Amino acid sequence: MNKSTRYNLTVIGSGPGGYVAACRAAQLGMKVAIVEADRPGGICLNWGCIPTKALLKSAEMYEVLKKGGSFGLKAENISYDLAAVVERSRGIADRIVSGVEYLFKKYSIQHIKGMGTLASPTQVQVKANGETTVLESDVIIVATGARPRELPHIRLDGERIISSKQAMTLKTLPARLAVIGAGAIGMEFAYYYRALGSEVTVLEALDRVLPVEDEEISKQVARAFTRKGIQIETGALVSSVQRHGDTVQLEYEVKGNKKKLEADIALLAIGVVPNIEHLGLETVGVKTAKHGIAVNEHQQTNVPSIYAIGDVIGPPWLAHAASAEGVHAVEHIAGKNPRPIDYNAIPGCTYCRPQVASVGYTEQKAKAEGIAYTVGRFEFKASGRAVAVGDTDGLVKLIFEKQYGGLIGAHIAGAEAPEMIHELVLAIRQECTAEEIGKAVHAHPTFGESIMEAALDAIGERIHGA
Ligand code: NAD
Repeated sequence: MNKSTRYNLTVIGSGPGGYVAACRAAQLGMKVAIVEADRPGGICLNWGCIPTKALLKSAEMYEVLKKGGSFGLKAENISYDLAAVVERSRGIADRIVSGVEYLFKKYSIQHIKGMGTLASPTQVQVKANGETTVLESDVIIVATGARPRELPHIRLDGERIISSKQAMTLKTLPARLAVIGAGAIGMEFAYYYRALGSEVTVLEALDRVLPVEDEEISKQVARAFTRKGIQIETGALVSSVQRHGDTVQLEYEVKGNKKKLEADIALLAIGVVPNIEHLGLETVGVKTAKHGIAVNEHQQTNVPSIYAIGDVIGPPWLAHAASAEGVHAVEHIAGKNPRPIDYNAIPGCTYCRPQVASVGYTEQKAKAEGIAYTVGRFEFKASGRAVAVGDTDGLVKLIFEKQYGGLIGAHIAGAEAPEMIHELVLAIRQECTAEEIGKAVHAHPTFGESIMEAALDAIGERIHGA
């Protein structure tokens, strides 16, 4: 065993939770180590957010180029090279990962390669290449993330029954793709492969696609997907996926009716499970809850010197939530008394087409909680900007609490949705009213005007649209 080194903070895991926490801690003057078995960046940078956005851009450009004629362009024999599309995506992941390695140098963060285990409330044991090192640390942050969920009766084989990781690197287009689960991952890959020409069927157990989104948004996206030729089966509980040579046979049930589907590849996108095994949680007595490590509002576990952030603690399973939790934990450790994170003001985005972004209450949740509310809507088809750029399939829906009038929920489906949502994150945090948002002059012509119009709609003052 190597002799121990002492740190103020040791972070286990270097995804967007862990590496951001490490950087913030270094900014606050702490001596920081980060333990990572793989490349820095976690799922997000290596196998999630970043490489998928690169793939989706290729798919979107291919779709747009094929429509070039309607823009007065002459583009003939448009085609693609899937291997090159994948290569670009991998190159982009490499580039962004090297940015994290640069940050480790910039902030003098000690990057320790290996598997980290909690050995005591102030010790992390690291195993790498047969050697064991113990790091002494005043405080430890666990940021080990999550991995795709499998089912006892549906096992991934990595070739025909795959997770998002393999879906990101297929170099041959599957003629028939079955997507199990219509959450963010399922919908992004359904869009991607359909845009490139696969026959795609989406099977979702609940009664609509993107079930965490507002019902109207789910409907808008489902309509758009159906127009693209994507088959959607909701209320479809997949019970079996079997590989038969070069095909997969799926069995599922819809309202008591057993159904079958044959595909070349089945993508399992039914959520994630936390990486809590082999971490030594039991050794040091760290408690877990339903979705992972249990923490208080400051990301602190029941062992005061151990914090946990990101996917390993459960929902919302979003990179930016992990980063925010990392910053919060470190500021709490530094005694800065930060305000707990407002989970109602964390946006979520899905980058299929139409894109989706939302923050706060859905109408269904407001109803379920007995909150009196008013709704304002605006459809992109009445937006000059949307018509000019040929992207009229979109909707902004805003939900205002009735008593004081503050915004509690915002939902966008359509072009630029993830870029537009931040005005509404701020508006929720500041409890802005429909009048305040609607009377804030928005530049013309922009997609953002749709937010102003939706706010005005909530007070009966919308100018454009039917
Ligand atoms: P998810 O939980 O968002 O969606 C999984 C879906 O699978 C659910 O709608 C669920 O009802 C369905 N399902 C579960 N079991 C099923 C079965 N047997 N048959 C049919 N359907 C079934 O999970 P995900 O899409 O795998 O994504 C994982 C996490 O990563 C999510 O929390 C997601 O928000 C996050 N993520 C976010 C982004 C983004 O921000 N763009 C992208 C990817 C992933």
